[in-house]
Amino acid sequence: MQLLDIGANLTHESFHHDLDAVLQRAQAHGVGRMIVTGASSEGSTKALALATAHPGRLFATAGVHPHHAIDYDEATDAQLRMLAQNPAVVAVGETGLDYNRNYSPREVQLRVFERQLQIAAELHKPLFLHQRDAHADFVALLRRWRDRVPGAVVHCFTDTGEALRDYLALDCHIGITGWICDERRGTHLRELVREIPANRLMIETDAPYLLPRTVRPLPSHRRNEPMYLKHICEEIARDRGEHAETTAANSTATAEAFFGLAPLP
Ligand SMILES: [Zn+2]
Repeated sequence: MQLLDIGANLTHESFHHDLDAVLQRAQAHGVGRMIVTGASSEGSTKALALATAHPGRLFATAGVHPHHAIDYDEATDAQLRMLAQNPAVVAVGETGLDYNRNYSPREVQLRVFERQLQIAAELHKPLFLHQRDAHADFVALLRRWRDRVPGAVVHCFTDTGEALRDYLALDCHIGITGWICDERRGTHLRELVREIPANRLMIETDAPYLLPRTVRPLPSHRRNEPMYLKHICEEIARDRGEHAETTAANSTATAEAFFGLAPLP
């Protein structure tokens, strides 16, 4: 089983002390490649440094999460543009809208999201997108830009069927995390995941967040890491009524095509 984790926050401080061990465990569990999420100017710079240090295994995104939109200035814009020109940066993002926490004012989030849509359009890179409690504004802006960007994945999709169908109609890809393994709040996703065509579905841990609740025994530290991606793959396979090998092969091929990665020999 060859899995590809399209969203791992490996620059997070919880990985500082043992990243090499984390990467080795991932490899031992079939996760040979990971895309390191960039969520701020500094975080994106570090994500690219990690990708550069592990060519062919780690790749990076470059973007500013809506939580940090308030920090986005001209220097940030220039920095993201510079990073996104590196071939190891395979998407612009994490960007989007988050009205759940509103750490940055909505009008700032909207403006900063659009700046990054512009970067993706100009540099012809796909988008790595975050949306929480902001579907209407998010889809309206995405609809205006969709034809100008080569691709868009709505990462950590947890929203409604209506939102899912809006994204699929816009030819977006969908990223599914361990949220689907949570029997308390992920059950609606178990039905919806059947509606996603295999060539639109990708999987991600969002590590260190969202440890799948199906991991046994649950590690005491509760840190999620890419080695657990298989649990997400297996839950999705169960829900879609297919073999986990099929889900794995399809999601990996979909991610390779979406991010422009060469298939492994
Ligand atoms: Zn996110």
